[in-house]
Amino acid sequence: MKIKSVQAFAIKNDIVGGPPTTRPRQPAWLADAEVAGPMSRYPRFKKLRSTWRPEWPSVGCVVIADDGSFGFGATRYGTPVISIVNEHIWPLLVGEPAMATERLFDMMSRIVSPYGPGGLGAYAISAVDLALWDLKGKTLKTPVYELIGGPAHDRIKVYATGNDTDWHMELGFKGTKLACPYGPADGLDALNWNEDLVGEARELIGRDVELMLDCWMALDVEFTVRLAERLRPYALKWIEDCLLPENLDGQNELRRRLPWMTLATGEHWYSPFTFATAAAQKNTDIFQPDIAWVGGLTACLKINALAEAAGIPVIPHAGMNTPYGQHFGYAMPNAPWGEYFLGSPPGVPLDEMAVFPGVASPKDGTLTPSDAPGFGIELTLDGIEKLKV
Ligand SMILES: [Mg+2]
Repeated sequence: MKIKSVQAFAIKNDIVGGPPTTRPRQPAWLADAEVAGPMSRYPRFKKLRSTWRPEWPSVGCVVIADDGSFGFGATRYGTPVISIVNEHIWPLLVGEPAMATERLFDMMSRIVSPYGPGGLGAYAISAVDLALWDLKGKTLKTPVYELIGGPAHDRIKVYATGNDTDWHMELGFKGTKLACPYGPADGLDALNWNEDLVGEARELIGRDVELMLDCWMALDVEFTVRLAERLRPYALKWIEDCLLPENLDGQNELRRRLPWMTLATGEHWYSPFTFATAAAQKNTDIFQPDIAWVGGLTACLKINALAEAAGIPVIPHAGMNTPYGQHFGYAMPNAPWGEYFLGSPPGVPLDEMAVFPGVASPKDGTLTPSDAPGFGIELTLDGIEKLKV
């Protein structure tokens, strides 16, 4: 079976599904919440990430084989990623064996190497790789999680990310992760205000629910150390994504200055190489690759293998928001938890927000993926056509 075509195209937003039929009882926290980020030092871009992030649409990708079967992948960062797939990768993969996911991942990694396997190129590879795995599962009439060795869990344990903490508790999650609102740009106030937020959350959830803090590339080493020390009484399970992703020396310094703090990161690392370096330098306790950004399932399997051998668990970024992360998490004993990014408004049932038809949603803080072939996405080629924008 050979590859006949590979096509990427713009689709609507890939994180939040909907529109829901149930009326929200209040707006989602994301609507106007400040979240610290790498641009927070510039006042006109400080409050909302939407003021500086690109308005590129999400990306769908269909691989069609010469027998007419197809697979569907999805990623982010529309216009440039669509160009990389359609104008560079697609022509070079036509006629290649469609089931050869290792060979095709290796080819794609080398194809994009002149301009960047460590950024937008990794998003393009992810879209094609995920479509290839979906195609493989459908061809073999098997869910992808069985192709990669699963199931490893009865149900995946899921935690929720977002600042509607009371809604997370109502939904039955046993872990909740806050988005850190303030960073070095706010000076000493940031330590006080962040402590208020974390303290209130701990008070609300009690001692039997895990609490984490996501810092989305916003901090520096000195601020992270002071923040972690300030928050020590609140028993955070981990602190996440504190530095700019390229700053591996800084990550080493964090490890040295915070030996007691569990450090998680990796959602902005691309390709397995950075994870191999981090594992060798022992600077990170939990790896968080995003399966739809890092290079797809093939990249995640390589990262998981090297992480497991180094004693590092893998909890993919927003893994429970996509069928791809769900199948990975279900299959891997080294993935103890799944992350569900909860950006939808309180009161709306999560299954109304599923990103594609057939994709499972968390219930009572757990999730089991669909056992339909491939990634279980219930979309025909006509249905995919309707997602295009
Ligand atoms: Mg994160």
